[in-house]
Amino acid sequence: MNKKYEEKIRELQEKLRFLSKLVESIREGLVILDDSGRIRGANRAFSQLTGLKIEEVFGFPLKDLDLKWEGLPTFGEVLEVVREEGTWEGEVWGVHRNGSSFSSDALVSRISDDPNQKYVVLFLDTTDRRSLEASLTSLAYYDPTTDLPNRALLHEHLAGAIARARGAGLMVAVVFVDIDNFKLINDSLGHHTGDKLLKCFAKRMISFFESATMVSRFGGDEFVVVIEDVESVERIEGIVGSFVDSASIPIEVEEKQIYVTVSAGISLYPVDGSDPQTLLRNADIAMHHAKDMGKNSYRFYTEELNLKVNERFTLELRLREAIAKDEFLLYYQPQFDLRTGKVTGVEALIRWNRAGEGVLQPASFIHVAEDTDLIIPIGDWVIRKACEDGKRLLDMGFPLRVSVNISAKQLSYVDLLSLVEEAISQTSFSPSMLDLEITESALMKNKDRARTLLTELKKRGVTVSIDDFGTSYSSLNYLKYFPVDRLKIDRSFIADITSDPNDVAIATTIIAIAHNLGLKAVAEGVETEDQLTFLKLWQCDEAQGFLFSPPVSFENLLKVLKNRSIAIND
Ligand code: C2E
Ligand code: MG
Ligand code: MG
Repeated sequence: MNKKYEEKIRELQEKLRFLSKLVESIREGLVILDDSGRIRGANRAFSQLTGLKIEEVFGFPLKDLDLKWEGLPTFGEVLEVVREEGTWEGEVWGVHRNGSSFSSDALVSRISDDPNQKYVVLFLDTTDRRSLEASLTSLAYYDPTTDLPNRALLHEHLAGAIARARGAGLMVAVVFVDIDNFKLINDSLGHHTGDKLLKCFAKRMISFFESATMVSRFGGDEFVVVIEDVESVERIEGIVGSFVDSASIPIEVEEKQIYVTVSAGISLYPVDGSDPQTLLRNADIAMHHAKDMGKNSYRFYTEELNLKVNERFTLELRLREAIAKDEFLLYYQPQFDLRTGKVTGVEALIRWNRAGEGVLQPASFIHVAEDTDLIIPIGDWVIRKACEDGKRLLDMGFPLRVSVNISAKQLSYVDLLSLVEEAISQTSFSPSMLDLEITESALMKNKDRARTLLTELKKRGVTVSIDDFGTSYSSLNYLKYFPVDRLKIDRSFIADITSDPNDVAIATTIIAIAHNLGLKAVAEGVETEDQLTFLKLWQCDEAQGFLFSPPVSFENLLKVLKNRSIAIND
């Protein structure tokens, strides 16, 4: 049964790999639609043409993308033609995510009766050919002083961003930026200098904000930034906060250093409005609040969010103190071998012993540590402390693997290799007993860097586990790309493993994939005997969870280790 299952998976993987190579290699943008016109697949050329990521358009109705179809009002009508005649051919225009417009020849055809893969749309980029016409339209869409998209294009783009966010369940931030006292500058230095200042300021904004965000000139000294793919308020706050700070670096215009400050107001889709007009109006109101508060600052439209910002500032300050006062602790949760019942390792989980408030869980502070980069010094401490405790365990006769959680920030900004080497040599811990837990998304954010790092770590014997596996990309390809040792099945799949057929399918597939690739499968969050029985049946290798032991202090870990009778019955 298991053999057959494995073979099937291998076969399917081969087929998929071949097809996806083929689709990736063609120059035309390609989109596959189901019978209701939702996107079920797209290739790289399509995402280059539109600036949209493949994963964000997946499941999205093509008609909701802001595209104009020659001679027909919407893509719905195009589909009608295809349903009747089998194909449709014509020109298509759209705006790339970076604000530039594109044109393409398109062919829409029915390809199969499979309701999931019913139609294919091919886009042949003709933007260059059309660049003359495009430059004419750009006059209507761009501001001649700063070359930024103007208000008209902003409206169109924002409408598209809202539609995309609605499909993906994400937020969009609209940031209204106004230069403080611009009138004074203009009056005292003249309009000519004022214009030059605006130009330089526009350049500075473009280089500050990522390419995927739109920076537009709203009018006068007002600019509007549209930020898509917003998964947390904290991220927006971080971006806008550092933009406001960076604006105070002087701008050189005609050999004069001009000091400006800015005020910014933020509104968020869907909390503060669901159409461009409302979002722009509310961001403008928030910007005026920032001015009233004394300029050189930013405000959210929603009062609650402003409170959150204040709370966060306090938390950030307290976290900085916590590092200095050595208030962090490591708790350890044992991991068991499901065949032998023996403890094979422990996961180090951080806790904050906050003066007067007891021991805090990471959920209440780790996201702030991540956003403010404090996770870097905290992470350094965790690695060192875990190696130190690992060595203590070893000396007490418990040769256990110690797993340490590594965040995306650490992967991108820290020389982890040196850090790990240093921690190991200073504590005399064995590198082959150190394991790093990294999430899929952290790996994917730092693909090349992570691969080099993991390869080097592997040479030294350090192992790597993929944490929370199944919750994000779960693309099989990257498993081969990174040298990893273990897949940790996210605890959300384990929770209902005995009742929810979807979770059963996911968990058993992860186990099969792990074994196919020669990796170990580790189940997280095992709380009941039934879950344990199921996991053993499916030959999951290791498990951790409250059933065996919650995360405990080092002293209590020793007690757990000395009392192995809690281990598993067969
Ligand atoms: P994680 O790495 O997935 O850790 C497992 C979490 O599941 C831990 O939460 C653990 O207490 C909890 N857990 C274990 N067994 C069970 C169970 O049977 N049922 C349930 N409901 N939960 C269980 P914790 O300690 O609150 O940590 C949460 C997250 O914080 C960790 O998730 C990890 O992503 C992060 N974290 C913890 N320590 C560190 C650290 O030192 N550095 C970094 N970057 N992140 C850390
Ligand atoms: Mg973990
Ligand atoms: Mg986990």
